[in-house]
Amino acid sequence: MEVKDKKWVLEQARKHKVSFFRLWFVDILGFLKSFSIPLEELEVALEEGAGFDGSSIEGFSRIEESDMMAMPDPSTFCIIPQVRDQFGGVARMFCDILHTDGTQYEEDPRYVLKRTLKRAAELGYTFYVGPELEYFYFKSSQIPPQGLDDGGYFDLVPQDLASDFRRETVFALKKMGIEVECSHHEVAPSQHEIDLRYTDALSMADSTMTCRLVVKEIALKNNIYATFMPKPVYGICGNGMHTHQSLFKGGANVFFDPDDEHHLSEIAKRYIAGLLRHVREFALVSNQWVNSYKRLVPGFEAPVYLSWALRNRSDLVRVPSYKPGKEEATRVELRSPDPACNPYLAYATMLAAGLEGIEKEYDFVPPVKENVYEMSDEERQRRGIKSLPENLWEAIKIAEKSEWLKKALGKPLFYKLIENKKMEWERYRSHVTSYELEEYLPRL
Ligand code: GLU
Ligand code: MG
Repeated sequence: MEVKDKKWVLEQARKHKVSFFRLWFVDILGFLKSFSIPLEELEVALEEGAGFDGSSIEGFSRIEESDMMAMPDPSTFCIIPQVRDQFGGVARMFCDILHTDGTQYEEDPRYVLKRTLKRAAELGYTFYVGPELEYFYFKSSQIPPQGLDDGGYFDLVPQDLASDFRRETVFALKKMGIEVECSHHEVAPSQHEIDLRYTDALSMADSTMTCRLVVKEIALKNNIYATFMPKPVYGICGNGMHTHQSLFKGGANVFFDPDDEHHLSEIAKRYIAGLLRHVREFALVSNQWVNSYKRLVPGFEAPVYLSWALRNRSDLVRVPSYKPGKEEATRVELRSPDPACNPYLAYATMLAAGLEGIEKEYDFVPPVKENVYEMSDEERQRRGIKSLPENLWEAIKIAEKSEWLKKALGKPLFYKLIENKKMEWERYRSHVTSYELEEYLPRL
């Protein structure tokens, strides 16, 4: 097998006549940051990292310590197929963020994920994830959003055209080495979904970032706008990022047990118990925006209550049904995350929750057969079924009190995230919204 190291990157660069290298990393909120270096700088950058000013980057260093280094990860080298001009090709590499003295920058989300994966590796586990990314195509980013395949615009941009954009996206991803398991139109008008074929979590966090960018770029190229905003339109479904997860040990899926009535191992059950126990604490990560909580309401196939089930789609955790001979596909699907999360931190916290369940031997939580939405509040309370936070403020308050989350994210990133989110909540809380104006101005 090809070793994707520095030497390989230099060879690839020469072979494909790449003249520019985009160095990618993410900020604390999962926004993609990029700066470019020319071919002449590549060798040094691969050896020592490339310097940049971190002071303007969300959640990164303060002015007085603003110089940082981006150390490219050679294994993520990939030619960007859409960009090629008279100067040659353009490639990207994801980077780890270091201090100028070469030590690890602890607030780097990619590092937080790597550290959690290491914890899993020490127990002998490899963590695999497969996300389902939902998004909308709109005519533009203008307010109010206008879909492509609803009402009046049907003639202007026929429904098939949106499927063409999606297909174009899938092909572009394939060219970049990202496998798409399936893609389809989603429930709401103008809503689409791309399901990425499962890989190890670090590769998948990188691929999730790439996928979001490619979806947006292809939309832009076609003069439309794509958004992963969790709930862009009131009254119709929002965008989720259901995340399928499994643990492997030495090539075998440790979630599978042929003798269990649900084909789930003890490990899988403890993992589920970990997700259910900690999901409220990491909601601030998996659902990090004010808008995220507008999606998590009853009636739109998004989860609200903390229950798990084998098939029922209304529950927070679902275990897709077992198909004989497909034991490696045994997995749990967490349905709360949305695609506007920081995938590095989201995958890290999901895994940390599951591992906590395994290590601390959390008790098995029985699946719920009934529809939790049809139960009365009393019934849910009697059965101990809690709910996800109702809004960002509740998520902040729960997260802030969580020693588990502090450990999972590491103190420096934990405190910055809380501070950042409090600022967002304060802006929102004091904002006079169009809802209030419409409701109150004519009457009060
Ligand atoms: N869009 C729904 C959500 O917000 C999910 C629809 C589905 O794939 O079942 O999670
Ligand atoms: Mg879906």
